[in-house]
Amino acid sequence: MKAMNYRGPFRIRIDEKPMPEILHPRDAIVQVTRACICGSDLHLYHGMVPDTRIGSTFGHEFIGIVRELGSEVTNLKVGDKVLVPFNIACGQCVFCLQGLYANCHEANTMATAGGGIFGYSHLAGGYDGGQAEYIRVPYADVGPTVIPEDMDEEDALLLTDVLPTGYQAAEMGGIQKGDTVVVFGAGPVGIMAARCAWLFGAERVIVIDHLEYRLDFVKNYANCEVYNFKSLEDPVLFIKHITNWLGADVCIDAVGSDACGNAMQTITGKKLLLQAGAATALHWAINSVKKGGIVSIVGVYGPTDNLVPIGNVLNKGITIRANQTSVKRLLPKLMKHVQDGILSPKDIITHRFALEDLPDAYRIFSSKLDECIKPVIVL
Ligand code: NAD
Ligand code: ZN
Repeated sequence: MKAMNYRGPFRIRIDEKPMPEILHPRDAIVQVTRACICGSDLHLYHGMVPDTRIGSTFGHEFIGIVRELGSEVTNLKVGDKVLVPFNIACGQCVFCLQGLYANCHEANTMATAGGGIFGYSHLAGGYDGGQAEYIRVPYADVGPTVIPEDMDEEDALLLTDVLPTGYQAAEMGGIQKGDTVVVFGAGPVGIMAARCAWLFGAERVIVIDHLEYRLDFVKNYANCEVYNFKSLEDPVLFIKHITNWLGADVCIDAVGSDACGNAMQTITGKKLLLQAGAATALHWAINSVKKGGIVSIVGVYGPTDNLVPIGNVLNKGITIRANQTSVKRLLPKLMKHVQDGILSPKDIITHRFALEDLPDAYRIFSSKLDECIKPVIVL
C-alpha cells in the first residue's frame, strides 16, 4: 500500500509499505478515505517531537471503511464507514473509565508519557498513522464510530480531533456566562475554540494571530473580535487595556510550540524574538489572564519548552488546565451539534490533495502559503 514516510525534519515522501495486519483480536483494518494534516503533525514535521523515528507514518485525523475485524470486535461490521478518534484507548483502564480516553493507561505504558495517538512518535505509543491507504486500528471496539447517514463525511473527519479539541479547550477554560475569552491562535483548533466559547456563555471572544487571512476567516466564522499581534506594541498590555485593566477571564492557548519563530515577546519594553519552539502564546496567556483566571492549554509543546512564568501563575492565583482531547467522551454531544447544524466544522477546509501530493500539502500548510487553513488528503 502507499503511505507517508518520514525521512527527517521537513522531509517526507510517499512510499510502498507493507499492508497492516490484525495483530490482536480487538484490532480492525480500516481503508482510509480521507485524512487531514493537523497542526500537531507540523511539530513532528519540524522535528520537535522526541523519538519521531525515520520511516514513521503520521496521521491521526482520518475516516475510512472497515475492511477486516479481529474476533473480539462485535460492534462493527466489515463495510462500515467510521470516524476514528485520534486517541487510542482501551476503554477499560482507570483513566478511560473516567472519560480520560486521551490518557489511557494501556495504549501507552511509558511512565512519563500521556496516552496513545495514531502516527505521533514513539512517545505516543509508536503507532502507525492514517496518512496511508490502510491502517491498523487497535481497540477497535472502543474508538471507531459509524458515521451517520445524514452526516457529511468531511464533518465526520473533523470530529476525529479538531472540533472536539476546540470544544475541550473552551470546556477546560471553565467559561462562565458573561466571560471575556481570549484565544491565541487562529488555526483550525483556535477557530473551533472561538466558535465553541459562545456555547459556554462567553460574552466576548477575542482571537489573536498574525495571519490576516486566518483572522478574517475566524472573525466571520466565530463572530469574534480579532487582533494581529504583529501590529500590537505589546499584546499583553493591549489585552489588559481592552479588559478594563483586569485581564481576560479565560485565555486559551491554541498555538503550542512555534517552530517558525513567528511571535515576539515584549520584555521590559524591548521586543525579543524568541527561539524556535518557545512558548510565546503561553506567556501571553498567563500574563494577560486576570487574577484568579483560567488558562486552558491545548497547544502541544515539546519537552524543551520549559519557559513557563510559573512565578506569575502563583502570584496571580491562576489555574492552568491542559490535556490532549478525549475525543470519544465528547463525540455524542458534538455529533448531535453537527447534525443539528449548530456546528459546521467542514467549513474550515481550504485545500484537498491526493496522497501522492502529501509533501506539497505539508509544505503549504507548514508555511501557511496559499491562505491554507485546513488541508485534507482525499484517497
Ligand atoms: P496551526 O499551525 O494551523 O495554527 C497555529 C496558529 O497559531 C497559526 O495560525 C499561527 O500563526 C498562530 N500563532 C503562532 N504564534 C502565535 C502567538 N504567539 N500568538 C497567537 N497566535 C500564534 O495549528 P492547529 O491545527 O490550529 O493546532 C494548534 C495547536 O493545537 C498545535 O500546537 C497542535 O499541536 C495543538 N493540538 C492539540 C490537540 C490536543 O488534543 N490538545 C489536538 C489538536 C491540535
Ligand atoms: Zn490533530
